[in-house]
Amino acid sequence: MERKVVLITGCSSGIGLHLALRLASDPSGSFKVYATLRDLESQGPLWEGVRARGCPPGSLEILQLDVTDSSSVAAARDHVTEGHMDILVCNAGHGLLGPLEAHSIEAVGSVLDVNVMGTIRMLQAFLPDMKRRRAGRVLVTGSVGGLMGLPFNAVYCASKFALEGLCESLAILLQPFGVHISLIECGPVRTAFQEKLERGPGGVLGSADLETRALFSRYQRHCERLFWEAAQDPEDVVEVFVQALRAPCPVLRYFSTERFLPLARLRISDPGGSQYVDAMYRTVFSEPEEEEASREYGGTEGP
Ligand code: NAD
Repeated sequence: MERKVVLITGCSSGIGLHLALRLASDPSGSFKVYATLRDLESQGPLWEGVRARGCPPGSLEILQLDVTDSSSVAAARDHVTEGHMDILVCNAGHGLLGPLEAHSIEAVGSVLDVNVMGTIRMLQAFLPDMKRRRAGRVLVTGSVGGLMGLPFNAVYCASKFALEGLCESLAILLQPFGVHISLIECGPVRTAFQEKLERGPGGVLGSADLETRALFSRYQRHCERLFWEAAQDPEDVVEVFVQALRAPCPVLRYFSTERFLPLARLRISDPGGSQYVDAMYRTVFSEPEEEEASREYGGTEGP
């Protein structure tokens, strides 16, 4: 049986790590996984997972790949049978939290470089061969933050919105080539993502005004509640990736959870945008303080 060659970015932790191990240990034995890492020093969890799951020899190979470095992307492509790839998973990403004015322009550039330019570098490296062979699949880790704006996440959302436009545009052109591109839209997932959020020298809030600080406190309480209620385990989320890469006719978007679909639908059905903006404001900020203190978890809508 010929194995499908898969390359995944950002495998040192979280979704990438779990997806690499899930595919390398698939009972069908039908995947050869290139698990790529920006920093080879963080390969410990991958080897621990290989041992724990009993992945067959040769089912997983680790490669250095920094999506912000074109020469690193090219070296990885040359290593994997001259760019021959059945399934490419563009997963590497990171976030940036806080009011826009608190971010250094370097931190903004770094998020856009990893999340947007990094995905573009990967696609430029691997799509030509897929088009030539008229076969291949690309999965891109999307986010609820790519489907709707979220307060204190403007730059992260900008990066994930960019991926929506990128993938949707490519899906149209790739159709006659038999190459499929899909976004896996994730809600909150229990990974190291939140801990690794970029923070400026003055912290998340920098020198933000008092009103913005008060809103940020409300936002944080909202997020804590949301994570408590709705966060998914990476093991569950990667099953959605597996479903997408096994689908006979993959669609453009898969959702790891249906929880945010009502808000996404509201946003699409209101081109002017004010209904969505009001609804999101209410969802995040309009809970009376006294109610919050005694509130029982459960029953709220939205991210
Ligand atoms: P994570 O922090 O565990 O994983 C991110 C991975 O990207 C890490 O392995 C990190 O080393 C890698 N990475 C960062 N910069 C890189 C670079 N320059 N080159 C190569 N790799 C790089 O968090 P995660 O939750 O597993 O995140 C994976 C993806 O899921 C991201 O694209 C993120 O935006 C998306 N996502 C996460 C959540 C969540 O709540 N955790 C929600 C929606 C979407």
